[in-house]
Amino acid sequence: MDFSKVPAHLWRDYNWQIRNRIRTLEELQNYIKLLPEEIEGIKGTQGLYPMAITPYYLSLMDPDDPQDPVRLQAIPRAVEVDEAIQKKGEPDPLREEGDIPGLTHRYPDRVLMTVTTFCAVYCRHCMRKRIFSEGERARTKEEIDRMISYIKEHEEVRDVLISGGEPLSLGNEKIDYILSELRKIKHVEIIRFGTRLPVLAPQRFFDDELLDILERYSPVWINTHFNHPKEITDLSAEAVDRLLRRGIPVNNQTVLLKGVNDDPETMLELMRSLLMIKVKPQYLFHCDPVKGAIHFRTSLDKGLEIMKFLRGRISGMGIPTYAVDLPGGKGKVPLLPNYVLEREGDRLVFESFSGERVEYTIDEV
Ligand code: SF4
Repeated sequence: MDFSKVPAHLWRDYNWQIRNRIRTLEELQNYIKLLPEEIEGIKGTQGLYPMAITPYYLSLMDPDDPQDPVRLQAIPRAVEVDEAIQKKGEPDPLREEGDIPGLTHRYPDRVLMTVTTFCAVYCRHCMRKRIFSEGERARTKEEIDRMISYIKEHEEVRDVLISGGEPLSLGNEKIDYILSELRKIKHVEIIRFGTRLPVLAPQRFFDDELLDILERYSPVWINTHFNHPKEITDLSAEAVDRLLRRGIPVNNQTVLLKGVNDDPETMLELMRSLLMIKVKPQYLFHCDPVKGAIHFRTSLDKGLEIMKFLRGRISGMGIPTYAVDLPGGKGKVPLLPNYVLEREGDRLVFESFSGERVEYTIDEV
């Protein structure tokens, strides 16, 4: 995709990227020859699962490859609204909707605040795609205050995850307000943002005022969501570097997606590339049974095969935890390939990374 005529100062401007998002079939056709199932998908998902693509993210696509991993994540296909697919899955399999709009309190020590339904790009596999039919709406100050009052009253909450939609799409003033209010609460230790902007519009982090705010309320952590090595670019590396220089750690949560990254070599390259830009691969999530995104699900065996492949080919630092989110909001469960082949009391037989059987006896003194 050729955006070479856009002046660099505009290309590096987050607001320009957002103002110029591609939102309609006609606009998208100016850049890419769409497949019939994409045309049908864009028409069929209107009002239900909207489309928006930043010029930056669009520029990562190979327009000649119908199976391009960026394309599959950003351009709707008819399968999303296919009757058989729509019958499967649930809009909210993790039961995030609680009593206070925007607040989920699942684990005792952690809460999730969803502060907006706006996203720079609407990812086709999104676990929260149910919220996008509401239109692009940020929570009001009153709604934010209600969430903050709840957190104040619950002394067991030590960790607040701010998410969306895209939480860092809020204006700096609002972000500053939320962080300053949270930091007034003694029992809140960790504040995290779940943001995909390093992937979809890394220009957001070229704003020193935003970085000043994030730094001021330390410890603030970033959880981001790179799914494919193609998403690691000079601009995303620069965004991460700017965050790290302000003492803001960046961890990654990949979702295992059929056709996008369900291949051991691709996943290895992704994990290696993440380490190269100093992002810690934290989770590899099995794709949730989300209505409208079921077609991205792989088997569990595929995830385990990938995990087994990674071990021995990259240091432990680059190996994420493979996890399934249990239905009904029951939390995450880590999954590991089986490395214990036999066990008899203190005598175990393990499978090594290279497939050897190795005996190991525990001599507990
Ligand atoms: S940026 Fe995150 S919240 Fe927004 S659509 Fe993508 S995955 Fe969903």
